Amino acid sequence: MAIQIDYAKTPFDAATLSQQRHVLVLLEKSCIDLSSLDALDHLGYADTLKRKLQRLAKPLDSLLKSPLQTESATGCLISWVVIDPQATTFQTHSLLRKAIQPLLDEQAQEIALVINAEQTVVECMSMAAFYVAGVNAAVLPSRKSKAEAEKVLEKITLYPTAQSDKDWQQALAKPVKWTQAVIEGNTLCRQLTMLPPNELTPQHYRQRVKQMAQQHGWEWQEFDMQALRAMKAGAFVAVGQGSDPEDAAIVHVRYRPSSAQKTIALIGKGICFDTGGHNLKPAKYMHGMHEDMNGSAVALGTLLAATQAQLPINLDVWLAIAQNHISPLAYKQNDVVTALNGTTIEIMHTDAEGRMVLADTLTLASRNQPDWMIDFATLTGSMVSALAERYSGVLSNRPELAARAVSVGAAVGERLCAFPFDEDYDEELESKLADIKQCTLDGGADHIHAARFLSKFIEQEVAWVHVDLSSYNHKGGLGAVSSDVNGFGVALSMELLRRELATS
Ligand SMILES: [Zn+2]
Repeated sequence: MAIQIDYAKTPFDAATLSQQRHVLVLLEKSCIDLSSLDALDHLGYADTLKRKLQRLAKPLDSLLKSPLQTESATGCLISWVVIDPQATTFQTHSLLRKAIQPLLDEQAQEIALVINAEQTVVECMSMAAFYVAGVNAAVLPSRKSKAEAEKVLEKITLYPTAQSDKDWQQALAKPVKWTQAVIEGNTLCRQLTMLPPNELTPQHYRQRVKQMAQQHGWEWQEFDMQALRAMKAGAFVAVGQGSDPEDAAIVHVRYRPSSAQKTIALIGKGICFDTGGHNLKPAKYMHGMHEDMNGSAVALGTLLAATQAQLPINLDVWLAIAQNHISPLAYKQNDVVTALNGTTIEIMHTDAEGRMVLADTLTLASRNQPDWMIDFATLTGSMVSALAERYSGVLSNRPELAARAVSVGAAVGERLCAFPFDEDYDEELESKLADIKQCTLDGGADHIHAARFLSKFIEQEVAWVHVDLSSYNHKGGLGAVSSDVNGFGVALSMELLRRELATS
């Protein structure tokens, strides 16, 4: 359920405070003299903060790093934080998460959002707080038999500043709608990713996408194993053939708003469970492998967000949905398979299934000639070795697109690092028997080799960005999001799409 945004008529004061239970106060760094606690006096409702800081012998600027909570005489929990507009979005989101979580831990149903800032940054600050509150108030899957009925955040009330003009709430209508859409997309992504693998089987996932397509008016098309065999999509089939029932498929959903000029394709790896295949993973590494479909959930979450935001861009979403199993029919090392575009592949490692299902999916996506396309995949362990779970990696067949993704990622707080894409990396993928090796057995730069491999299946030189989601799950949360699975990629792709509009 979407969180309602209300707009208070008058600025926040001591009288308003007495009627609240949960309040978040954002103080902009330049709007308050951080060198003296007396600066708090003019606010009129900050006496509890002043006393607490005095007691702790902490300066006001400690709130730039660590938010503080105080309780008013009337029993209201107030969370205080100082925001530096020069900080990165990632830093601001992380700080806001620390400030908002104590309010959500009390199952706040309503939060009063009070901002003391220059008018020019009020929109940015209030939307950042709304986003962080929204993603962390989301209800995520739980299968506890005796789950307690949790109260959810229903409403955020924004207060005008002393400088707000009469139309301040109209000015916020658009950013509120946008932020709401991104929250919904991020939430869908996490909800799908967290479902247990006996629930989110390929078959169930496919049904779910079909239902969503009906609900949201998306065109829907599926290529099941029979169709893919007939099309000679041998790279995808090599992975899908190891499952019984053969429920793998490439699912294609299309969003076609009226008046759209451009078409962008979003592609996602949707491995609902990855055992590693015959090169079986040990227990420690197989644990959590139901989340190997996260890339497809990012694509789907973005599609939902774009639909809710009524974005005037055509979107083609391609989901490579399968499982990677052991079975007498499963593909194995040294097999040679022929991909949809005719390229023959020498199988080196059955756990490199992601690039196999994506290869044919990228061919299909590129044949429709989108303006550009982006894929999301939990693809390689070497990307995690390179970046840990704090950044995701990006590679592209157009250097300027990789650079754009990095800057957009920084702007939305989803951090990306660009990796080289030079063609001499192909030397390690040379095969004596087939056109290309699937991977090497040495690890090393597998994240680069994986991207080089994928590029061979893109037709008509379509511009393409590849996001290897090393940061999709970070223990204890990351940036705006408190849950381990964080929905990384939805805000990023929404902002990429928005900037695409701005330049067209
Ligand atoms: Zn794998």
